Amino acid sequence: MIYLDNAATTPMFEGAAEQYKKYACELFYNPSAGYGEAIKISRLLQEARKTILDRLGAAKGDIIFTSGATESNNLAIQGSERSGKWEYVFSAGEHPSVFNVAKSLQQKGYVVHFVPLGKDGQIDYGALEKVLNEKTRLISVIHVSNETGAINDIARISLLRDRLSPKALLHVDGVQAFCKIPFSVDRLGVDLYTISSHKFHGPKGVGALYVRNKGAHKFHGPKGVGALYVRNKGGLKNIVFGGGQEGGLRSGTENVSGIMAMIWAVTHINTQENFEKVTKLKNAFLEVLKSEAGIGVIDVGSPYILSLSFKGVKGETLMRRVENEVIVGIGSACSTRYAGNRILEQLIARDEVISSVRVSFNAYLTLDEVKNAAMIIKNAYKNLLEKV
Ligand code: PMP
Repeated sequence: MIYLDNAATTPMFEGAAEQYKKYACELFYNPSAGYGEAIKISRLLQEARKTILDRLGAAKGDIIFTSGATESNNLAIQGSERSGKWEYVFSAGEHPSVFNVAKSLQQKGYVVHFVPLGKDGQIDYGALEKVLNEKTRLISVIHVSNETGAINDIARISLLRDRLSPKALLHVDGVQAFCKIPFSVDRLGVDLYTISSHKFHGPKGVGALYVRNKGAHKFHGPKGVGALYVRNKGGLKNIVFGGGQEGGLRSGTENVSGIMAMIWAVTHINTQENFEKVTKLKNAFLEVLKSEAGIGVIDVGSPYILSLSFKGVKGETLMRRVENEVIVGIGSACSTRYAGNRILEQLIARDEVISSVRVSFNAYLTLDEVKNAAMIIKNAYKNLLEKV
């Protein structure tokens, strides 16, 4: 079976699973306890933060460990919420873990702007420019679309923010970008960045939020860095209350084994090398499909994600037809319960949306596997068409 739904989740590295076990069964101490063994774990978590910062291209900043991207996105957005006449800006291409938080802000009565996507799947920069103003509190934009692979130009958005909304925080959901495409948050000018371990061969239920400068905090974060931040932007506030772990921003005993397994995955991925490998895999896959009329391809950015439409056939039918040999997705796993697809509908016609499947790669597939998978999909499509 060839698994091509890596945007939904990836298989965990064996080495990461071994780390998980080590920190669950042997070195299981609570990092907040005061004795030596626990302090060692707490130090390992500090090193883990440094590893993530390095990989994000951040010279400094904080890493808040969370239960995954859904929580990181909620913390970034709800934690930025302020009373008063602030406005919030989102792209219309966000994952439900951002989109539904945005909706909840709207229900609370805030001014919330959803900026449409252009035909290339990226945010419409002109439309974004029109809604930004002095009252903007937060701009939240996905880095790589989990539906189409479109890559938003975060540096461009950051410059617009500097010019038009200097008080706004810029949050980026980087779930489909981190460890997949090369970038640096410092160069992009991002304040908050979300990552999720299970999208890069780590365990599920663990992730992090990068916070450029969250303000002075009482617990174990760097001191004296907060004043400027608080003056300029207002800090991030916690949405979970408890024992004050993670600098008070995310109470609850840290998922140490999950974090250590995630770090193993991070340190065993070469983003640039994998990017080049996956580009070759994607091209080989498309080469097989290209001779078949009726197959539409959205290939607009990240080589890890393709959206394909099969004229005359339902995406779901095709997915089920091939699933014993090849696993593909229909849209993001999180939105299969909904009829339609709010993101693809902005780019292609409704009948094409219905006939769409999402193919997403990982760097450890072989060329033969992806070519084979493309043949299986192509043949299944031809067979289904004959029956129509
Ligand atoms: N954002 C994006 C872009 C995603 O693709 C996903 C996973 N489908 C999430 C957020 C949610 O991640 P998690 O499963 O870690 O909550």
